Amino acid sequence: MILATPGPVEIPLFVRKTFLNETIHHRTPEFKEILIDTLNKFKNLTHFPEAVFLTSSGTGAMEAAVINIVKNKALTINAGKFGERWGKICKAYGISYKELQYDWDTPASVDEIVAAIEDDREIDSVFIQISESAGGLRHPVEEIAAEVKLINPDIMIVADGITALGVEDIDTSNIDVVIGGSQKAFMLPPGLAMLGLSEKAVERIGKGRGFYFNLANEIKKQREGTTAFTPATSLIIALNEVLKKLEAIGLNKHYENTALRHKALIASIEAIGLSIFPQNPALSMAAVYFERAEELRKILKTKYEVNVAGGQDFMKGKLFRVNNMGLIEDYKMEHIVNSIELALDELGVREYDGTAVRVYSNEKLR
Ligand SMILES: *Cc1c(COP(=O)(O)O)cnc(C)c1O
Repeated sequence: MILATPGPVEIPLFVRKTFLNETIHHRTPEFKEILIDTLNKFKNLTHFPEAVFLTSSGTGAMEAAVINIVKNKALTINAGKFGERWGKICKAYGISYKELQYDWDTPASVDEIVAAIEDDREIDSVFIQISESAGGLRHPVEEIAAEVKLINPDIMIVADGITALGVEDIDTSNIDVVIGGSQKAFMLPPGLAMLGLSEKAVERIGKGRGFYFNLANEIKKQREGTTAFTPATSLIIALNEVLKKLEAIGLNKHYENTALRHKALIASIEAIGLSIFPQNPALSMAAVYFERAEELRKILKTKYEVNVAGGQDFMKGKLFRVNNMGLIEDYKMEHIVNSIELALDELGVREYDGTAVRVYSNEKLR
């Protein structure tokens, strides 16, 4: 079965092999060396001076960012399931917030965010997704961050990069916190979350807040090459291998490959008459609007061994989402787009003629 969902993604063999090694203790010089090296590689990838890893899924890092960064009031951007989560976290902690809501296919408006901030001087932090996975949408985060910093450089910009880090180079010069998750573009099992932090973010965190998710404690410990609690050692060791691999390929080359594969994937899907859902598609996936998505997904899974994701919430049955994160070989993507075309034939939507694979490979060759 090909796991073609936009998280979790397939775990390459070189990563899986790392789990066969003997367990090492986390309070040892051996692990300390790996942790420091992995943090450094992650800082390099995110262009931040500071980084911490948490043993949790990505949402744990979102929660940690909210409770440690907001001092007065948050502005949260909700254009899907993951953007909605910021508000839910604020609510759970009784943190004051204002939410700007967008349709799932619509990127956040820079002007509206600027207006919201000028309108309410209590707001001291902005929370947004770089790639909102619910609708496969890319927000103009870099532009938003730059505009907000012009108004007040003390306002913290927190970007959920769970389906953006490792997919494209993010200009983090105006961003203060970026969040990553192991099971998306880092091609690992779930269970590890990462945060990249600016100097200003570390200042804002101060003594931190919370217990398990107190970022001040983690920053202090991880600077010394250790962690406050038992870390997900196996995932950190595996992340080290993933980052080494991406560095060996060349980060920029890897981003180029990802962008080219995305272009080919989108072109082949459109060539067989389907339409891409978001107005500004994220490179992490292809989110396809299709009213018979559940029937299509069933054929893909049972007949062609391809597991793609459906839509969430009110988009269930109207959307299917094909992953573009990680290291996906062309033969796999060709099988995926070909299977989609075959399934459309089976559903009586469009007669099969091999267009999807042809367009995909032509685009890749160009
Ligand atoms: C997957 C994902 C998350 C985190 O989800 P977890 O299930 O907690 O790992 C957060 N934001 C985005 C954009 C995601 O795609």
